[in-house]
Amino acid sequence: MRARALARSFGRGSKALAALGPVDVDIAPGEFVCIVGPSGCGKSTLLRIAAGLLRPSAGELELRASADRPAAMIFQDYGIYDWKTVLANVRFGLDVQRVPRKEADERARSWLARMGLADFAGAYPAALSGGMRQRVAIARALAVEPEILLMDEPFAALDAQLRTILQDELLDLTQTTRTTTLFITHSLEEALVLGDRVLVMSARPGRIIAERRPPFGRPRTGEVRATPEFTALKAELWQLLRGEVAGRADAGPPHPTTKGAVPA
Ligand code: ADP
Ligand code: MG
Repeated sequence: MRARALARSFGRGSKALAALGPVDVDIAPGEFVCIVGPSGCGKSTLLRIAAGLLRPSAGELELRASADRPAAMIFQDYGIYDWKTVLANVRFGLDVQRVPRKEADERARSWLARMGLADFAGAYPAALSGGMRQRVAIARALAVEPEILLMDEPFAALDAQLRTILQDELLDLTQTTRTTTLFITHSLEEALVLGDRVLVMSARPGRIIAERRPPFGRPRTGEVRATPEFTALKAELWQLLRGEVAGRADAGPPHPTTKGAVPA
């Protein structure tokens, strides 16, 4: 993926809102890039442009994939179908790819098992909690074994334990299949565990104000969370991000008692 002077605004004339950019981003095949930034800085806008759902106002974004593996996206709104069972939802991408029914069922069931949803294959999404629905959406995207994964805060709605488990699962998957991934999160910890590179965005209109390479080799496991390098890098990035969060026009000054505390 290659973005050059990419920018997006919404509305026209004096009412135009500059939402994103200009940003330059390059993502090499097989690379896992995380973007962190304050709420409303244009992260989802960037991902929607990458997904081809939104046109840039200026600049360009090029995304090149080979023909034999599909791109896949996971968005904040889960986009699962209420009239399909959980299994049929996860199988959906495989059906589109015309994977034979038996193999598609097996792959879908294996992903449901990895997501802790094996007992819910026949259930309808209405019977699931928000976190479970999100896991169905993740299973559906991963089941197609995409070449490019675009993920927009996919774990944000999950509890801390499950979030940790799925981070480790995603590490395992992307390292074994070399999936090129653009992953948006507001969690520095998540970005540092997962990313080959972490890009920090400014407040709106979001630009890239810093880039760090977490100094952990591959294959990597969640154990990097416990290293001093991890803690130091997290504190360093928080210093950067904090200024952007506090600098937003609609946010007040940082609360004195939270000063210096580093959130997840
Ligand atoms: P983030 O994902 O970083 O929280 P978004 O990319 O969703 O931020 O939004 C960036 C800014 O653009 C916000 O101010 C948001 O209100 C605005 N915005 C996003 N989408 C639209 C839209 N379709 N129409 C108008 N404004 C939008
Ligand atoms: Mg967003």
